[in-house]
Amino acid sequence: MKGEQFNLLILEFLLNIRKNNMETKLKTNITVKDICDGFIYNELEGKGLFGLSGKLTIQPEYQRNYIYASDGGKREMAVIESILKDYPIGLIYFNKVSENNLEVLDGQQRITSIGRFVTDKFAIKDENGMEQYFGGMAKDKKIKILETKLLIYECEGTESEIKEWFKTINIAGVPLSDQELLNAVYSGPFVTLGKEEFSNSQNSNIQKWSAYISGSANRQAFLERALDWVSKDNIGDYMSRHRYDKDINELKTYFNSVIDWISGVFTDVESEMCGLKWGQLYEQYHKKSYDPSKISIEVRKLYSDPYVKSRKGIFEYILGGGNDTKLLEIRMFDDATKKSVYTIQTAKSETKKISNCSHCAMGHDANKSKIWKLDEMDADHVTAWSKGGTTSIKNCEMLCKTHNRAKGNR
Ligand SMILES: [Zn+2]
Repeated sequence: MKGEQFNLLILEFLLNIRKNNMETKLKTNITVKDICDGFIYNELEGKGLFGLSGKLTIQPEYQRNYIYASDGGKREMAVIESILKDYPIGLIYFNKVSENNLEVLDGQQRITSIGRFVTDKFAIKDENGMEQYFGGMAKDKKIKILETKLLIYECEGTESEIKEWFKTINIAGVPLSDQELLNAVYSGPFVTLGKEEFSNSQNSNIQKWSAYISGSANRQAFLERALDWVSKDNIGDYMSRHRYDKDINELKTYFNSVIDWISGVFTDVESEMCGLKWGQLYEQYHKKSYDPSKISIEVRKLYSDPYVKSRKGIFEYILGGGNDTKLLEIRMFDDATKKSVYTIQTAKSETKKISNCSHCAMGHDANKSKIWKLDEMDADHVTAWSKGGTTSIKNCEMLCKTHNRAKGNR
């Protein structure tokens, strides 16, 4: 962390203490060795659990999962390299719950990195690019790491003060996602159960869910989507109403209904299905009945149609009964085709003394013999795309803008 950012954090912190009357003590004598005494990392849940001889809870329920090990572990390696180079790793905040019980308020990722390194869970690269585990390091380097003192603020305050503060801090470099913030603000039994179901990367359902939902379990993407669907886009409100619930039945049931509905209607999984607004589509269409085998044929047909530009739109297009071709962004005629059709059409109508718009020519008003300019006309599919018409010169007719619009989106 750069010095400037560091000072800003302290300033922000002091302002917050004054505002909240939070009690705080700066501790400068706690070493890496102290912190790592009794360190336990839970591989299954992806989180550091305890340290400081059991006195410290590293991941209270309002904390996010450990993410420093992702992106190839660059972040956790950087923490160790900073310690070896005497760079500050930033302030760490503990919440003093009772005399013998502390929780990490901010610094969980850094502490877990240190604990994981000291227990040989990952290696760093030495100056020759060789992998080096803590266990295999030279004695002086080991001692240097273990004796490094951390800068720790111990805070004491009410739950709401602590949470308010937690809301305002973002670890440098890895800001909290919206859902991580909401989890902190509305922490309680409901969030705990929700995370167990939706934020556990070992959950075997994640692979299935990933076909329809983008993002990662660790960063709360699935929990966020589940909440978004059941709350109809009103997550904060829903979390506050259910905060002290002892079950997540409604959340789970609704989520599974949406997933089952998607996989029931669309039997093939296509990459473009990921990240669509499935909650809204479910609300709008789940009461309609569909024949999955016919749907599958239709999906494949549209996938192989070179005129369909937006494959993401295929699913909503089919659900809606195949009327809204705008969703597919059907490929339009290019300028060369339009110009060439215009020239032929206009030459013919000039000899016949009728309008170069075939619809105007059939009418009885002044436009009957009007010759429109190229920029006053638009290209139209003679046979609509939805009836098998192609976007080729043979199927192109120029109409005046009014008639083209009137013919509409067929
Ligand atoms: Zn016309």
